[in-house]
Amino acid sequence: MSVSFLDTPIEYLKGVGPQRAQSLRQELAINTFGDLINYFPFRYIDKSKIYKIRDISNSNTLIQLKGQISNIQQIGQQRAARLTANLSDDSGSIELVWFRSIRWIKESIKENHEYIVFGKPTLFNNKYNIAHPEIEPVEKEEEGLGESLQPYYNSSEKLKSRGLGNKAIGNLTRNLLIRAEGMLSETLSQEIINKLKLISREEALLNIHFPKDPQLLSRAQSRLKFEELFFIQLKLLRHKINRAQKIKGNVFSTVGKYVNEFYAKNLPFELTNAQKRVIKEIRTDLGSGKQMNRLLQGDVGSGKTLVALMAILIALDNGFQACIMAPTEILATQHAKSIQAMLNNLEVKLILLTGSTKTAERKIIHEQLQSGELNVLIGTHALIEDAVKFKTLGLVIIDEQHRFGVEQRAKLWRKNNIPPHILVMTATPIPRTLGMTLYGDLDFSVIDELPPGRKAIKTIHQYDSGRLKLFGFLKKQIKQGNQVYIVYPLINESEKLDLKDLMDGYESISRDFPLPEYAISIVHGKMKPAQKEYEMQRFIKGETQLMVSTTVIEVGIDIPNASVMVIENAERFGLSQLHQLRGRVGRGADQSYCILMSSYKLTGEGKKRLEIMVNSSDGFEIAEADLRLRGPGDLQGTQQSGVLDLKIADLIKDEKILKYARNLANEILDKDPTLETPANKPLKTQLIRMFKNKPNWGLIS
Ligand code: ADP
Ligand code: MG
Repeated sequence: MSVSFLDTPIEYLKGVGPQRAQSLRQELAINTFGDLINYFPFRYIDKSKIYKIRDISNSNTLIQLKGQISNIQQIGQQRAARLTANLSDDSGSIELVWFRSIRWIKESIKENHEYIVFGKPTLFNNKYNIAHPEIEPVEKEEEGLGESLQPYYNSSEKLKSRGLGNKAIGNLTRNLLIRAEGMLSETLSQEIINKLKLISREEALLNIHFPKDPQLLSRAQSRLKFEELFFIQLKLLRHKINRAQKIKGNVFSTVGKYVNEFYAKNLPFELTNAQKRVIKEIRTDLGSGKQMNRLLQGDVGSGKTLVALMAILIALDNGFQACIMAPTEILATQHAKSIQAMLNNLEVKLILLTGSTKTAERKIIHEQLQSGELNVLIGTHALIEDAVKFKTLGLVIIDEQHRFGVEQRAKLWRKNNIPPHILVMTATPIPRTLGMTLYGDLDFSVIDELPPGRKAIKTIHQYDSGRLKLFGFLKKQIKQGNQVYIVYPLINESEKLDLKDLMDGYESISRDFPLPEYAISIVHGKMKPAQKEYEMQRFIKGETQLMVSTTVIEVGIDIPNASVMVIENAERFGLSQLHQLRGRVGRGADQSYCILMSSYKLTGEGKKRLEIMVNSSDGFEIAEADLRLRGPGDLQGTQQSGVLDLKIADLIKDEKILKYARNLANEILDKDPTLETPANKPLKTQLIRMFKNKPNWGLIS
């Protein structure tokens, strides 16, 4: 079969050999023939569209020029060095400039030769130049060749130095495709191909690399994007079905005295409709006989804690224990306190377990957990230590899930014979497309409504020069009895430097807000938990009016009296983090403010982020914008997943294809859950092939 050909190690390809193979492996993760065929061009250069230098009229669009190089010059030394060259065509000339890889560029371009240059012109001193253009010699024999769309492959300096630039990768691929003819077997079923009018896999692969024309390129792209997303969905959904069939869940069939008493006596407010809906979804899961695996998303302040508590009470009513795991000690402590307060005089034995729990106390906790005397355990990573054993753990709630690695979650999961139900809560809204791909095997619940009576937080962007005005404003707020957060980012490579930034800020704030009129709390990651707790408590009790901190306060803290959030160097934060921080205020009755401080030096993207924050308070909208701005690779929690090594599909642009793929996968599995029918055979074969070497990332969470 074709499998063995595509699995041939790349060094056996003519023109590769052991050294180049090693570079390909290291730089591009290309190990086999198949990997090379699946290494798609990232762009196509339309040879028919060449700009005249004279016609360059605006910055920041990519254009292609063709002309002669002259006057190659190195200016400056070492770190300040740059290389310049002139490119001229029959309409004019333009400067090209390089700040990096100077030696390599100098060796690879020659004066008085013709080049194709690709890049973004920028205006500098009233003249256009192009920094770090892609540059390729014009090869005579190529001109007049039929294909006008030339593939362009991403390479690296290291690969180029081994003779594996864009061109060479293209040539290797071309030769390989010729050899592979007839061996690029179909992966989709004929039914799907007919239904979606797709071109064959072989035709798609040929045209993705060397498009015959733009129409075929676009059909090749559609086919390969669909295929990529479809198999991910098929895998996730199959996993979900599999789990539902194989794994029994404890049945929580009754609602008893805990829930009823709480509802009747302790519920401090009317539930929002969204809370009611989500609680119902959870109840259905818990009673179904299958293990719950549910992701609960809700913006900061949407009332997730109460939902968690209701789920816990259901567990208790059915004779089970429950636990909540939180990412930081502060957050775990706060959860324990607020839940204890809501429980009031219900007979629930709840305890907090964190890294700073004393050994003696810890021992008692361990014993009481095993005897079943303790009902609810709330804590940090300390929960997953082996010594922590439950009598009957029925429900695990994980707060702020992106902070926990897959492995850690797996450990909790293994704490029972019948696995506990799992509810993962996150206040970082995940864009739908990303969620479908990352957590496609989980059920989703969304609290899309805030409790009534919240005042919208006013968000303002202020440049550093407005600091005096800011301090004036803060003083006024404090005079009215409000409290203020001032947050510094973690920006430097070294924690020491970050700490210094924070301390410098703290000092300058101390000068402007002197004792005895003002008192300031300070909290940062280097402090001992007890010391942190002490500073936090001073702020919570209102003994201090200002809280200066790093992002340790990001999640969970609930202090209704704090009405102003100042974020220093706001341009350095990601959007979801800014949104999280802003969510710390706006919890009380007073008008709240979020003030984003930045320097005048802003990148386009930095500015855009601040604009989005000023204009939107909707966490989902912000998450979508974040995904658009940064791409999925940078979003919190996605890095290690490996799910997002998408070769061709784009979670933003291809949302429609993704949804279609998911629906179709669902439909197919509905009729044929194990993909046994002859028609679905190719799907099963491909599924096995695609994921045989991948870690089983879908297994838990
Ligand atoms: P988050 O979803 O960020 O964890 P919390 O559960 O901390 O939000 O709730 C935020 C605040 O809103 C808390 O002070 C909580 O008591 C309050 N709250 C929750 N649900 C309601 C509701 N239905 N009506 C009024 N206030 C509510
Ligand atoms: Mg919370």
